[in-house]
Amino acid sequence: MNASLKDRIVRLIEEDGPIDVATYMRLCLTDQTSGYYTTRHPIGKHGDFITAPEVSQLFGELLGIWALDIWQKNGSDKPFNLVEVGPGRGTLAADMLRTILKIQPACAEGMTLHLIEISPSLKAQQQRKLENFPVHLVWYDTLDALPDIPFTLVANEFLDALPIHQYQFFNTKWSERAIGLSNDKKLVWGLRPTSFKVPPDLSPRQGDIFETCPAAHQFVNTMISRIEATGSAALFVDYGHLKSTFGDTFQAVGSHQYEDPFLTPGKADLTAHVDFGALQALTNGTKVNSATTTQGDFLLAMGLLERAGQLGASQSIEIQEKMRNDVERLAAPDKMGDLFKVMALTAGSINPHGF
Ligand code: SAH
Repeated sequence: MNASLKDRIVRLIEEDGPIDVATYMRLCLTDQTSGYYTTRHPIGKHGDFITAPEVSQLFGELLGIWALDIWQKNGSDKPFNLVEVGPGRGTLAADMLRTILKIQPACAEGMTLHLIEISPSLKAQQQRKLENFPVHLVWYDTLDALPDIPFTLVANEFLDALPIHQYQFFNTKWSERAIGLSNDKKLVWGLRPTSFKVPPDLSPRQGDIFETCPAAHQFVNTMISRIEATGSAALFVDYGHLKSTFGDTFQAVGSHQYEDPFLTPGKADLTAHVDFGALQALTNGTKVNSATTTQGDFLLAMGLLERAGQLGASQSIEIQEKMRNDVERLAAPDKMGDLFKVMALTAGSINPHGF
């Protein structure tokens, strides 16, 4: 018996009643037998979406310089533990490592790259891409498995894959959006009572939707305690907003097109914008510094134009033209530059570059 994920979700709702968005996202993305990340090759021209490291090596090079700077600010006498969460095809890690080892070959001594990845097939791709670098490689399924060591962590387009809840305001009260069944067994939206309290400083209008991502809060809280305890640093890049706000950002993408999130469970990527405002607020009252900015401003402050100029100097007109397009795609306000945000969390004594 090999029921499709859609059939299993329908049966689950028939038996237990409507499910929340987080349960739906979790099943669609990370179900052991039929989840999107567990079964598919999502990233790249032939996948469903392109990410910044897949646009240009410049992205990974600048993140490599960011990580090297943190290691140097930490005294550069300890082994370099670089961590990546959700490394995709391994492109970002490869570009970072190449840059770090070129600028500072001595880093290789005792250096470990720790990769946190849930997908067995992506893990295999990462292994192939990274096995020739002269550093130790270790994979983990979850952040909890990472040993208690000082680290520099990067995560690009990881937080947006974590399951969210949605609440909707009607007639003076908030309800949780849930997924139920129509008479002909199609997945449909509904509402159910909730005790969740939306932040009181936001004033909702009829129909407004508010999203929370408890899994991202849990991840960042763990990160904050680890950074405090070990003097570490983390950099998150994702699409989202710097201030908490209302809006429905739950979306499905398959083959580079938006689609109905109920159409093909497990076969399309499901994401939501990251509420960096809420995540940054988790550092209040801790000894962890937080800084946020847009991807465009971050990359420009890290030297995007200078590095592109240097790399393009000896190239053909066609390659220079492609590089100009890539730079624009990564940093222009109407491309990824404004939509994507960057958040650094660092131990009290470290002032991160790029903000
Ligand atoms: N950072 C890469 C890939 C982004 S796609 C890039 O920029 O190209 C999201 C990545 O996070 C994939 O590698 C996916 O398998 C991984 N991922 C998704 N949910 C995860 C989870 N709960 N735990 C660990 N990794 C996860």
